[in-house]
Amino acid sequence: MSARVPFLNLRLGEDRAAVQAAIQRVIDRGWYILGPELTAFEEEFAAATGARFAVGVGTGTDAIALLLRGLGIGPGDEVITAPVSAAYSALAIQMAGATPVFADLDDRRMTLDPRAADAAITPRTKAILPVHLYGQPADLPALAALCEKRHLLLIEDACQSHFATCAGKPVGGFGAGAAYSFYPTKNLGALGDGGAITTDDAALAARLKRLRNGGQADRYRHEEFGVNSRLDEMQAAILRARLPFMPQWTARRRALAARYRHALANAGLHVPPECDPGHVYHLFPVRSSARDRTRAALAERGVETLIHYPIPLPAQPAFAGLHPAACPNGTRVANEVFSLPLHPQLTDADVDAVAAAVAAVTAT
Ligand SMILES: *Cc1c(COP(=O)(O)O)cnc(C)c1O
Repeated sequence: MSARVPFLNLRLGEDRAAVQAAIQRVIDRGWYILGPELTAFEEEFAAATGARFAVGVGTGTDAIALLLRGLGIGPGDEVITAPVSAAYSALAIQMAGATPVFADLDDRRMTLDPRAADAAITPRTKAILPVHLYGQPADLPALAALCEKRHLLLIEDACQSHFATCAGKPVGGFGAGAAYSFYPTKNLGALGDGGAITTDDAALAARLKRLRNGGQADRYRHEEFGVNSRLDEMQAAILRARLPFMPQWTARRRALAARYRHALANAGLHVPPECDPGHVYHLFPVRSSARDRTRAALAERGVETLIHYPIPLPAQPAFAGLHPAACPNGTRVANEVFSLPLHPQLTDADVDAVAAAVAAVTAT
């Protein structure tokens, strides 16, 4: 039986004609890798995010790993990051050869706590990599000030925060560069995998274009150890078709979130605060000490929910070899948090139905 309110709807909506025309254009041209769609998307995405340069790559994970490598971060270096995220943000640090160091979350914002990051700095620390989790920017002014004071690079994981702003300024512009994912569920999604790096540094952008293409400077001349990670023409064309819809889709996400906040005001759930009006609501997380029971009761009423993320990264088997990190706020979030459906195709009636189900299952 399908849910009354499914968590996601990834079928095409008002973007259908534009996406189909983009796909047809690529097929008609017969050019699939490193062509005019990618070049145009890189210019358009850079302009839309307020960066000077964008470099399209294969995934968000590769975007993080290549950005670190492009900045000279690798074996022996430590990168401080958040303990609750898609595991890929920390896996990417390891892909670059560096060591992730987890510092705790700010419990209100559910993003990397600048004081915890400060306390985690060692002589090996090279960078701080906050994650703008759920679409809410981390405390970037404080993190940027910390990085400046301690001579560290600030690298933003913006995979969940396309077109978010922090203190009125676009995310991605607070440090050396930012990494984006275009995985289909992201605020700007492809019809497959995709990613990009944004930066204001021309030399870094040029090096990243080499690194994503096997380290080639000229054809068949490999200057350095690169990888094969390119945003293909089909995905670039699809992303170009969707880019003009982003302002209205982001506004729709924010309107749905406001409707949830109002409707859930007296429900038996904790609704985390909006700490910045630049929040773009990739997800709508709520917290409950009776999470599993609440989710099961919602599922019975046809409301699909997911947990982002159930296992704090320091507790992941993949990171068992790292220096153990105590992140009590992160552990509590991982134990309490779950996400209600929120995407641009959700209707007001869907939000009201979810809120009514929440009220019914949390009433005691
Ligand atoms: C999706 C995501 C990634 C990884 O992106 P992919 O395109 O799936 O490789 C990294 N970090 C965060 C926070 C993400 O949400």
